[in-house]
Amino acid sequence: MADSAERTQIGEGLVRFAVQAGRLETGRDDGKYFLEHVDGCGAGGEPIRPGDAFCFDTETGDVLCLEHCEERREQA
Ligand SMILES: [Zn+2]
Repeated sequence: MADSAERTQIGEGLVRFAVQAGRLETGRDDGKYFLEHVDGCGAGGEPIRPGDAFCFDTETGDVLCLEHCEERREQA
């Protein structure tokens, strides 16, 4: 779930994917690693709101809203 509309804290396992996607944010006081998603859903542009479920496609580097996430999973 999204911490805020701009970024969400992630664990170390996702860090390298976040770097690949150019979405890693560090150096904040409230956590170590964050995934930046201020641009919203990579498929439809919907804003990712605080508390929204979303997913991070580690292959493409896209952050997706739940709807597009499920759509992409079905196509995979
Ligand atoms: Zn979407």
